[in-house]
Amino acid sequence: PRNPPPTLHQPELWSDDFNDFICKCLIKDFELRPNVLDLLQHVFIKQIIGKERILQKNLAVYPVISRHERIHTRKGSHMKMQTDPDEVDDLATLEVLDENTVTEQLQSRYGRDQIYTYVGDILIAVNPFHTMEIYTPQHTKMYIGAKRTANLPHIFAVADIAYQSMVSYNADQCVVISGESGAGKTESAHLLVQQLTVLGKANNRTLQEKILLVNSLVEAFGNACTVINDNSSRFGKYLEMKFTCGGTVVGAQISEYLLEKSRVIHQAVGERNFHIFYYIYAGLADRKKLAHYKLSDSKTPKYLCNEHVKLGPDIVSKAFYKEQFDAVEQCFKVIGFTLEELGSVYSTLAAILNSGDIEFSPVASEHQTDKSNISNISVLENVASLLCIRSDELQEALTSHCVVARGETIVRPNTVEKAAEVTDAMSKALYGRLFSWIVNRINSLLRPDSHLGEDDKGLNIGILDIFGFENFKKNSFEQLCINIANEQIQFYFNQHIFAWEQDEYLNEEVDARVIEYEDNRPLLDLFLQKPMGMLSLLDEESRFPQATDQTLVEKFEDNLKTKSFWRPKRVDLGFGIHHYAGKVIYNAAGFLAKNRDTLPADIVLLLRSSENELVRKLVTHPLTKTGNLAHTKGKGINTIMSHVFKCLMFFQSGEHGDTPYHPRETTNMRTQTVASYFRYSLMDLLSKMVAGQPHFVRCIKPNNDRQANKFDREKVLVQLRYTGVLETAKIRRQGYSHRILFANFIKRYYILAFHAHEEPAVTPETCAAILEKAKLENWAMGKTKVI
Ligand code: ATP
Ligand code: MG
Repeated sequence: PRNPPPTLHQPELWSDDFNDFICKCLIKDFELRPNVLDLLQHVFIKQIIGKERILQKNLAVYPVISRHERIHTRKGSHMKMQTDPDEVDDLATLEVLDENTVTEQLQSRYGRDQIYTYVGDILIAVNPFHTMEIYTPQHTKMYIGAKRTANLPHIFAVADIAYQSMVSYNADQCVVISGESGAGKTESAHLLVQQLTVLGKANNRTLQEKILLVNSLVEAFGNACTVINDNSSRFGKYLEMKFTCGGTVVGAQISEYLLEKSRVIHQAVGERNFHIFYYIYAGLADRKKLAHYKLSDSKTPKYLCNEHVKLGPDIVSKAFYKEQFDAVEQCFKVIGFTLEELGSVYSTLAAILNSGDIEFSPVASEHQTDKSNISNISVLENVASLLCIRSDELQEALTSHCVVARGETIVRPNTVEKAAEVTDAMSKALYGRLFSWIVNRINSLLRPDSHLGEDDKGLNIGILDIFGFENFKKNSFEQLCINIANEQIQFYFNQHIFAWEQDEYLNEEVDARVIEYEDNRPLLDLFLQKPMGMLSLLDEESRFPQATDQTLVEKFEDNLKTKSFWRPKRVDLGFGIHHYAGKVIYNAAGFLAKNRDTLPADIVLLLRSSENELVRKLVTHPLTKTGNLAHTKGKGINTIMSHVFKCLMFFQSGEHGDTPYHPRETTNMRTQTVASYFRYSLMDLLSKMVAGQPHFVRCIKPNNDRQANKFDREKVLVQLRYTGVLETAKIRRQGYSHRILFANFIKRYYILAFHAHEEPAVTPETCAAILEKAKLENWAMGKTKVI
């Protein structure tokens, strides 16, 4: 017997009550709750027609369509209380829409600890910089299946709408979180995952726990303390949570993008290396295991010695790092890494730390000034032993290199600088590949295949959390890549919010005012176009052995003729870019080397001979499972998204096009530049994103001092401007929240105006009859859709 749970008041079928009930739901539906009627269809209509079984589970997920418990609590509790008429939860509903009003709204809400605000279907999150009591289990419950206007805006509501849309429409979803560095993207991503694991009711607690731990684990390896953010993401992360079609979470997969490997060997003033190095150093010391990993208690490894680092009060203590180390180890174990694997991970990390301490000195000989020697051979031996390779071979690989001339292999000595460069390259490569290996291993441990039935391809919700826009005193190649990625995300946002919306009105011949927005396509052209875009020019220059960073900026200057690019006076190797988010001055010093990112073949071969399986794996397999670009299942792709995709294909056309590709395989290591890999990664990311229906979260940083309760109006205004929040509010205000094809509309709602056995014609008139019967207003009839 299919008894609905008692919480749901079920009016008698076909009674006036029932019609009334559906009408109310329909009205709600048009108030941005697209799923209510789907639910009804499941619960009532399909029940009578008897074609589809009702999912009891769904009933449990959506128990609260007509019932809202209101608990009266104090300010900031996120339970909705009586509203001040001047205060709105949704900026799109403001009478007056200008910069001042919008900023004031955000400020006064922030003052009341209401950090979340809607702009139509987009969520704005202002970083509170203090812990808030709004993520409790009680809040979790409150936002499940609740009507949007019943509670204060919240990140949990975004999780809910994404989840419900996925289940109701049987379509993949993605949540795009953007904002500058320190704005709160990573925290938001955590909260989304937390809520989604509850919504997805993992069958076993372990899976739920594992998924929650994945973020912490990859962040230990991929995040670091910068001058802007103590926990800054130094890589882009796209986490896909996998569900069955019924909505049960069954696994997770992560894709990582562009880890800032250079941080391993060098950190800017006031910055630190990746967290994991400090964790492991403190953790192993605590367990008296430093000696086992050839590390010294008395002498901090050079890679960890960046002076003048100011850290937050909770971070300076060794005890904090120790705790973190225990936590990371726990994550590894719960997710399913073996003890042997863990040991190898620690050895590799320790080998990297030791590598930084290898010292080279010039060989004092009259004829051989360009030769180098290792002055502390014991450190070299430590590295060799940790990597399970021969130390004499390592010494040779660091202090000399092979060249092939006229079919003969000649061994040439390395200068001190060259030897240090090779060592650094090895450290970077080992770390980058270790990171990819960990991500891959997590993916194989959390792969959902075994949980999905044969016909169940499953659904997913992707969460994008990339490094935020950066503008430091000195900006290098890493910042350029990070900012290009942000430029790309902004383009995606614009396409979705503005271009698509306006095209839709145009296509449907519905009257709507055109809203101007800042189109950053010219900037994407500047970076990505072939053959004259910045990345192509960089690649071209990287192929010339004689090229220098100076010739590179000159090449930029000669070829990039746009207002968005300029050469500032008095800055050697400097060039400026006017990004969507502001002007940034870059310094091209090191660009070519960073782009070439070469790891000498001798080192690769040596590491391949390691007796440690993990070390061998790091240099043998293509680690990043990007496969080909056929992610786009088509099912969720709408026209404009395929347009975005095409734009990218255009940027991409050329060597990688749509051919299968294995990034950074050792075999093509020497030819594959960072720029071309980066371009590919962007493409890969977009291809994943466009396959799902997007939801946007815009994080805003209220001040530069990471202070609670401080709202710097000017700072916020700048962010509102460049993210186009005002324009978004305008378009959302005039926008119709729904567009449903006539056929879908009739299929879904015909019951309101017709008998169940009737099959009304698919015409605008039928739709109008239904809408009139439901006494709905504010709709428009397009050419193919009800709007
Ligand atoms: P980056 O681009 O550098 O990675 P980000 O946007 O990911 O930056 P987060 O690391 O998420 O920024 O946030 C920075 C800090 O702000 C956090 O470490 C935390 O202290 C604080 N913070 C962010 N969001 C919240 C929140 N919802 N509640 C409490 N504190 C928060
Ligand atoms: Mg982050």
